[in-house]
Formats: sequence, C-alpha cells, structure tokens
Amino acid sequence: MSTNTESIKVVVRCRPMNDKERAATFESVVSVDVKLGQIIVRNPRESLSCKSSKVFTFDSVYNWKSKQIELYDESFRPLVDSVLQGFNGTIFAYGQTGTGKTYTMEGTRNDPERRGVIPNSFDHIFTHISRSQNQQYLVRASYLEIYQEEIRDLLSKDQARQLELRERPDTGVYVKNLSSFVTRSKEEIENVMNVGNQNRSVGSTNMNEHSSRSHAIFVITVECSELGLDGENHIRVGKLNLVDLAGSERQTKTGAQGERLKEATKINLSLSALGNVISALVDGRSSHIPYRDSKLTRLLQDSLGGNARTVMVANIGPASYNLEETLTTLHYSSRAK
Ligand code: ADP
Ligand code: MG
Repeated sequence: MSTNTESIKVVVRCRPMNDKERAATFESVVSVDVKLGQIIVRNPRESLSCKSSKVFTFDSVYNWKSKQIELYDESFRPLVDSVLQGFNGTIFAYGQTGTGKTYTMEGTRNDPERRGVIPNSFDHIFTHISRSQNQQYLVRASYLEIYQEEIRDLLSKDQARQLELRERPDTGVYVKNLSSFVTRSKEEIENVMNVGNQNRSVGSTNMNEHSSRSHAIFVITVECSELGLDGENHIRVGKLNLVDLAGSERQTKTGAQGERLKEATKINLSLSALGNVISALVDGRSSHIPYRDSKLTRLLQDSLGGNARTVMVANIGPASYNLEETLTTLHYSSRAK
C-alpha cells in the first residue's frame, strides 16, 4: 500500500491561558508562527542558553485566537468533501487532558461561533445534500467508545454490553452488533450525538476522568447513489470517523497501581499503536503497517492510509507547568508527520 503525504496532515492548536493559569501568572512558553507553520517552545529554565527553544514545523498551526470555523474551512472541510465523494476519512484530536480536544471536536453547543468540527461537519454534509440534484443520499451515524480496549456502543440501550471486532474478507474489519441510525437532517444527527454523549456520562462517576481515559468515535457513513451515463445506478460510500482520543498524559508517572496501572498501560498502548501506524504510513517505505496492535487502529484500518485522508489535530496548552507534556505531544505529532 502506498500513501502519499498529502493524505495525512498534522496540525497543532494552542489554546488560550485559562483563568486559573492567568490568576497564577504562569508564563507562556509557546509561540505560534502561523505563516511558517511553526510552534516554538521555550524552556524558561534555560532562557540564556541558545538551546533554550525548540522549533517544530507542521502542516498548519493555530494560536489561541483561532476560530473554530477557520480550522474547519482550512483543515477539515477538504477531508469531509472527500467523504462526500466516497472516500474514507478520519479526524483525530490528540493531546493531554485540558488542552482542548473536546473543544475542537464538539465545541460549545448553543454558541454558533464555538461549534466544533463535529457539528460543523453535520452542517457541511446536510447543506451539500440539500443542494445536490441528481444524487440520492443516505446518511447513517454510529457512536462508540473504546475504554481499556473494550468497545461500548454509545447508542445502544444496553450500555453494559461489550462489542467485538470482527473481520470479513469482503467488508474488512467491523464492530459486530454496533447500532447505526439513519439521519435525514442536521437536527436528527445532532440528536444522535446528544444521546451518545448522555450515555457516555451515565456509566461514569467522574465524566472528566472517564473522558480522559477513553476514546470516543463518532462515525458518519454517507452513501450516494447516482444514475450514471450508462443508465445504471452507481453507489459510492464514504465514511467519516471523528475521534476524541484519550488524554495523552503519562498516567504511569502519577504512581498508578493495580487496576489504574493496567488501565494506564492500555491507554498508552493504543496511543502508541496509533503513532506507529501513522508514522509507518507517512514513511511510505514500510511494507507492514501495524494496525493489529490495538482495537483503535484495527477498527480504523480502512480509514487510515490507502485512499483515505487523515487529519490529526494536536492540542497543547501554553503554560510553563505543562512544558514536559507539551514537548511530548509535539514530538509525537512530528513523528506522525
Ligand atoms: P480536553 O477535551 O482536551 O480535556 P477541553 O476541550 O475540555 O479539553 O478544554 C478544556 C477547557 O479549555 C474547556 O473549558 C474549554 O472550553 C477550554 N478551551 C479549550 N480550547 C480552547 C480554545 N481554543 N479557545 C477557548 N477555550 C478553549
Ligand atoms: Mg475532553
């Protein structure tokens, strides 16, 4: 399989300082050079040495002033367009907890300016469909979560049930018994998302902690049928995976033991498996892409590499106390480039 570098993009977004950080007068160690696509990280402890800053270059970078719609139009719209053309695509939000993954993916509901990638893609898809004249579209949505390498259907009535990954020679890897809903409008698909989000929080005593340890995957399948010049109906199917990844912070550092440690190892495992898959694809010379190393990469196998497009948004915070995690995120993301 060959993958051209155009098919995988990595962008970085730095969120603003929050009120707590401002109140504590933390220094900002991150600068964003939008023109050059560079993130410059300064180590405040070595400010006099010339080795004190590190520069990372990406496909695009966004500073704290960046607008949701600006990210969407520049970095995500082309990918969603390709899904409407019948290709698969995946958007990942990566980064430590609190850096803006969920803000980037979902944003703030009820505030049109702050709607994230997921609601903007709903708009985009249904606007496209309403303007099309000779095509019939069928849009389906699924929503699942991977927590400790276990798959849960966020749209099912039975939230305790674990789902299995299966593989068929014709259709490839799929989740057995995963529910999917046909949605005919932006409002209908928003409802599906809301139901899934509610289910996601029901099973957890602490939503923040839970969401920082699990991957949430919203899947939109767009089927388009069109009468060809040959008088036959042609069907194209594209799949869009919208992934809010588990927090990338090193959990083992915090002295986790027992169940916690097991959980931490699994989170790190799927994030490192994802990093390995992406860097093998970007490298282009590897004949072996290690999709099988985690549930996440197996599940997304048909949407990573080949004809599929991928955008990874790495989220970082500006404050000095996050320096180490910020550098880890930037190293991870540069490897994916
Ligand atoms: P994560 O999902 O990575 O844990 P969140 O998306 O929940 O992080 O963001 C943490 C907090 O920072 C939230 O209150 C969110 O609204 C805010 N935030 C994140 N990114 C931005 C941004 N680009 N602009 C403004 N506020 C942001
Ligand atoms: Mg989150």
